Amino acid sequence: MIDDFKAYSNDQIEVRYSKSRCTHAAECVKGLRAVFNVRQRPWINVDNASVDEIVEVIHRCPSGALEYTIKKPK
Ligand code: SF4
Repeated sequence: MIDDFKAYSNDQIEVRYSKSRCTHAAECVKGLRAVFNVRQRPWINVDNASVDEIVEVIHRCPSGALEYTIKKPK
């Protein structure tokens, strides 16, 4: 499998998304549309929810297409 992760981040969290892994189950867009919205560009906007909300939805992704790293406060 080709890993083509693309990163979306702010100073609190980095979210990575792999198009080739995504099975379009839509758990992310149904779960947190403010962050995961295919009608906006970039389609992932990590500023629109709390870190906890984003992490909770990423854990629902069935394909492994979404990963995250929580950044340590400076
Ligand atoms: S939840 Fe995962 S598999 Fe489903 S659309 Fe989002 S990234 Fe793709």
